[in-house]
Amino acid sequence: MEAIKKQLHSQSYKLTPQREATVRVLLEHEEDHLSAEDVYLLVKDKAPEIGLATVYRTLELLSELKVVDKINFGDGVSRYDLRKEGAEHFHHHLVCVECGSVTEIEEDLLGDVEKIIESRWNFHVKDHRLTFHGICDKCQNENNK
Ligand SMILES: [Zn+2]
Ligand SMILES: [Zn+2]
Repeated sequence: MEAIKKQLHSQSYKLTPQREATVRVLLEHEEDHLSAEDVYLLVKDKAPEIGLATVYRTLELLSELKVVDKINFGDGVSRYDLRKEGAEHFHHHLVCVECGSVTEIEEDLLGDVEKIIESRWNFHVKDHRLTFHGICDKCQNENNK
């Protein structure tokens, strides 16, 4: 929370109570990948006066400031994912096509790929997002029963 507050202040934004409530929900659900609607419902529990439009605006602001990353797993819903503190790159995701579970990979694994891209296409890579679609360990076990 403190780190996020600093990040907002450094860009001359204030952590208003509405913004704080939104950030708090994101922190409490760090492992989840919430849609704006999900965030709104959870924030509303704490701050009933908050409107969906405010939550949307806050999420947009947080994603501009790179506090959260906006992600889409191919179901047409934008989800908001808290960037890990100090993470240079956005973490990767494994999305199970059967149960819909999402696993996060913190390891970057892409250092070599980036080097190839930089040298072959002279493209300076700043970030990447990677989503693998497949069948999770649990579903594979169930399928084999
Ligand atoms: Zn994630
Ligand atoms: Zn699964």
